[in-house]
Amino acid sequence: MPTIPVAVLGATGSVGQRFVSLLDNHPWFKVVALAASDRSIGQPYSKACRWVLAEPMPVWAKDMVITPVAPEAISARIVFSALPANLAKDIEPEFAKAGFAVCSNASSYRREPDVPLLLPEVNAEHIALIRQQRKLRGWSGCILTNPNCTSTGLTVALKALHNSFGLKRVFVVSLQALSGAGYPGIPSLDIIDNVVPYIGGEEEKVEWEPRKMLGSLVDSKVELADIKFSAHTNRVAVADGHIVCASVEMDSSVSPEDAMRAMSEYRLPASACELPSTPAPVILVRDEDDRPQPRLDRMTGKGMSTVVGRVRSDPLFHLKFVVLSHNTIRGAAGGSIYNAELLVQEGLL
Ligand code: NAP
Repeated sequence: MPTIPVAVLGATGSVGQRFVSLLDNHPWFKVVALAASDRSIGQPYSKACRWVLAEPMPVWAKDMVITPVAPEAISARIVFSALPANLAKDIEPEFAKAGFAVCSNASSYRREPDVPLLLPEVNAEHIALIRQQRKLRGWSGCILTNPNCTSTGLTVALKALHNSFGLKRVFVVSLQALSGAGYPGIPSLDIIDNVVPYIGGEEEKVEWEPRKMLGSLVDSKVELADIKFSAHTNRVAVADGHIVCASVEMDSSVSPEDAMRAMSEYRLPASACELPSTPAPVILVRDEDDRPQPRLDRMTGKGMSTVVGRVRSDPLFHLKFVVLSHNTIRGAAGGSIYNAELLVQEGLL
C-alpha cells in the first residue's frame, strides 16, 4: 500500500504529542504537517512543543515548522484532530468539506446521528455511517470520532459482558489521570495530596457515549443501547491511565468466573482484527487482588489493551470489577489512529 499523508491538528498538546510519537514509523501513514495555534505557528516543532513523553521526540518532527489549522495550509488525506472542542466544532467540518478524513478526539460531533463514535474492537460496523454522512452533508471528506478517554476501556469491557449476558444497569466511579486534562492541565497545588471530585462535562459523556457504541446500527441509524448508566468522575494525581470501578446488573446473575471468561475470550469484529493498531490482547483479565494499577499496567499491549481486574460479586448489582485504560494512547491518539486504519481498510478514505 502506498504511504498515506497525514497531519496532526493540535500537535503540541497532550494528545498531539502522542500522535507524533505513535505515528513514528507507522506502516501506512506519514506525517506531512503539524498544526497548532498562533502561539506556535512558524516555529519548529521542537521549539513550539514542550515534549513531556518518556519516548524521545521523533527526529523527523523536530524541524517540522508548525502550520496554521486551516485546510488550505495542509496537503494531506487524513487529519488527526487533537483540538479543544470549541475550536473543533467550527474547524473540523471545514476540513471534511475540503475532502479530508478527520479523525477527531474532540467531543463536538460524537452525538451527531451521522457521525461514527468508534472503538473498532466494539462497533467497527458503525463506520458505515460515513456513507450516510457524505450523502447528507455533501462532504467528500468525513468526520469520525473516538469516545472520551474514560468511556474507552469501560465500553470494551462492557461489550464483552453485554454480548454474553445482556447489560441493564451500570454504575461507575472513575479515577482519572492528569494527562487527561491536557498540558499544562491542573495546577500542581490543586492536585498534589488531593482528589478533585469534578471534571466538567465528563459524567454526562460517560453516561451517554457507551450507549451509542453499544447500540445497534439499524437502517443507517444507531439505536442507543437500552442500558442505564450512572457515573461519578474524579481527577487523581496519576500521570497517565484512567481507572474505572464498575458495578453492573445483567439480565440475570453471572458468576465472576463466567464474566472473566467472557471478557478474556472476547472476539473483536473481523474487520478490526488485523490492523496495525489492533490491541493484543484486546482485554487482559488479571486475577491478582491488587491489579490493575496505572503505573504497572497502563502499557499493556503497547497502551492499547483494556486491563480488567478484581472481578467479583456485587451485593447491590450482580458484578463489580476495575478497568484500566491508557487515556492518551487507547483513549485518544492510539484510538484515533486505529479508527483511521479501519477507514482505510474499508475503502472509505
Ligand atoms: P491540550 O494539551 O490543551 O492541547 C491543545 C492543542 O490545541 C495544542 O496543540 C494547542 O496548540 C492547540 N490549540 C489550542 N488553541 C488553538 C487555537 N485557537 N488554534 C489552533 N490550535 C489551538 O489538549 P489535549 O489534552 O491534547 O486535548 C485535545 C483534545 O482531545 C480535546 O478536545 C480533548 O477533550 C480531547 N481528548 C483528550 C484526551 C486526553 O487524555 N488528554 C483524551 C480524549 C480526548 P498551542 O500549543 O499552539 O497552544
